[in-house]
Amino acid sequence: KDFRNSVKPNWCPGCGDFSVQAAIQRASANVGLEPHELAVISGIGCSGRISGYINSYGFHGIHGRALPIAQGVKMANRDLTVIASGGDGDGFAIGMGHTVHAIRRNIDVTYIVMDNQIYGLTKGQTSPRSEVGFKTKSTPEGSIESSLSVMELALTSGATFVAQSFSTNLKELTSLIEQGIQHKGFSLINVFSPCVTYNKVNTYDWFKENLTSLSTIEGYDANNRMQAMHTLMEHNGLVTGLIYQNAHQPSYQQLVHGYSEEPLSKADLGMTEEKFDELVAEFM
Ligand code: SF4
Repeated sequence: KDFRNSVKPNWCPGCGDFSVQAAIQRASANVGLEPHELAVISGIGCSGRISGYINSYGFHGIHGRALPIAQGVKMANRDLTVIASGGDGDGFAIGMGHTVHAIRRNIDVTYIVMDNQIYGLTKGQTSPRSEVGFKTKSTPEGSIESSLSVMELALTSGATFVAQSFSTNLKELTSLIEQGIQHKGFSLINVFSPCVTYNKVNTYDWFKENLTSLSTIEGYDANNRMQAMHTLMEHNGLVTGLIYQNAHQPSYQQLVHGYSEEPLSKADLGMTEEKFDELVAEFM
C-alpha cells in the first residue's frame, strides 16, 4: 500500500502542497486502499501536478476541468476511489461552474483544493480567493473584488460534506481526507496551502494567527448546517475541521435508476465482434 512513487515534486521548497500530497498518500493507505483502487484527477496549476506524484491511476487534465473528468472516471469505473484536486484558481474561477454542479449532484468523488489565494504557476496573480486590497501584478493598486466565500457557497449549493484544513496540520488533514473518501457522496475539502514564493500576505504565520479550529468551539455540531453557516460567517470562513456533513443524503449513484456497482468498463454490454463491426460500419 505504498502510494509514493519515484517522481520528485518540482514545487518550491516550503510550498504547502507537499503536505497535501503526503496526506492523500497516508489517508489512502489508512482506509485500506491499494494503489490500483485509487484515481487522482487534477486540473492545471502548481497543485495540478499532484496527480503525477502519487502512486495510483492519475490524469492531469485541463484548466478547471478536473471535476468533469473525475465524475466520468467514477461513473465508468465505479469500483475506483476517485480524488479530484487542484488549486483555488483552477476550481473556484474557471472551474467554479463544475464545482457547484458537482456539489449539488453529490456524486461520490472527493475534491481536495489547495487554496493559496493566488495563481502560483503563472507567477502571482490575484485569484477569486484573494482578499480585497491584495496587491499582485494583476492588481497593482489592490484587488477591488471581494473574496469568494467558498465554504458558504458549498453549503448553500447542497453540499453533503464540507471540510477545511491547513497544510501544516497533517494529522487533521489526513483524517479529513479519510472521512471524505468514506463519505458516500461528494466531499469538498479546502486546504489552506501557502504559496511561499508569490503570496507574502497569507503566510504560514498569518494562517496560524487567523485560523480557528472547530474543535475549540464548544458545542459545535457538524450535522447542523445553520450552525455551520453562522460559524463560517462569524470567522470570515477561517475555520478548520469538519464543517458540515449530511450522511443521510443519497449519493448520485444511489439515486440513478437501475444503477449497478459493476464498473461499466467491465460490464458485459452484449457486444460481439459482429455487432461491433456493424456499429463501426454505421459511421463509415
Ligand atoms: Fe507552491 Fe507557490 Fe511555488 Fe507554486 S509558486 S510551487 S504554489 S510555492
